[in-house]
Amino acid sequence: MAKDLPSIVVLTGAGISAESGVKTFRDAGGLWEGHRVEDVATPEAFVRNPLVVQDFYNQRRQQLTTVEPNAAHIALADFEGSYAGEFLLVTQNVDNLHERAGSRKLLHMHGELLNKYCTLCFEVSEQTGDLGIDDCCVQCGQSGGLRPDIVWFGEMPKYMDTIYDALARCKLFLSIGTSGNVYPAAGFVQVAAEAGAQTIEINLDPGGSSRLFSQHIHGKAGECLPAYLKNLLVKV
Ligand code: NAD
Ligand code: ZN
Repeated sequence: MAKDLPSIVVLTGAGISAESGVKTFRDAGGLWEGHRVEDVATPEAFVRNPLVVQDFYNQRRQQLTTVEPNAAHIALADFEGSYAGEFLLVTQNVDNLHERAGSRKLLHMHGELLNKYCTLCFEVSEQTGDLGIDDCCVQCGQSGGLRPDIVWFGEMPKYMDTIYDALARCKLFLSIGTSGNVYPAAGFVQVAAEAGAQTIEINLDPGGSSRLFSQHIHGKAGECLPAYLKNLLVKV
């Protein structure tokens, strides 16, 4: 019965999208597609140079039309579809590969490339094409207030109450393709462990909070995750 099945929280990072051709940060020497984080992923950068920042996210948005979910995204969506217990997928990624693979219970804690946000009326709305710095908000009609709905460094991640509630209840916490350097996500393993959960890291190499996990699987997510989840479905 569902109530006897362990509650599962999965955290994913840029590494799960690497095999789809979306570059991670750290693998490129701390750069995001050739850009310093301070130049494209902080509120200060947007104030200083909005054109550069908008252009960077316009390129990231365009890239989504050229990439596909990989075996790891698909395995997670399939697992969710077959699992009768409580399941939550939290991603730090701003791409849309999890939803395109079929994941449903999904929170984008760092925002989404395909959303924009109006700093004048606070409306969040869909943005599929390029966003210009003078574009008008569909809600309030004003121009000059629109920005990508991305949580930049120094800003508050989204859905934190829901995520911490789920972590406090979970019996299994799985972290996939994240370097464990960006907080608060890097601290989720500790919250889950304190709640008595089994904690598993699936990553190419040990991440920053690796020592806090009870189990490690080192390898490519697209290869390790489908096998791990298949086995998990049999065991639980
Ligand atoms: P990160 O770039 O800091 O770390 C990625 C981790 O994934 C590394 O530890 C690396 O060893 C591992 N990795 C690389 N290829 C892998 C593979 N095939 N299988 C398994 N692991 C693999 O990414 P992060 O920890 O997610 O933090 C970076 C921040 O950058 C996040 O906030 C995120 O919003 C943003 N970001 C997002 C994307 C995206 O949406 N796809 C891409 C780059 C950066
Ligand atoms: Zn507005």
